[in-house]
Amino acid sequence: MAYICASCGKESKSLEKFVLCPYCGGRMMLKKRPNISREVSTD
Ligand SMILES: [Zn+2]
Repeated sequence: MAYICASCGKESKSLEKFVLCPYCGGRMMLKKRPNISREVSTD
């Protein structure tokens, strides 16, 4: 599962139980979601 740091925006995966950014040390990690294009309608 991939996470994205809310502080620096870097992506890191294979994190331990605690979520911590290896780049900036931020603890605000967001779960990276795959692009869901089903709801998107291009009119
Ligand atoms: Zn970071």
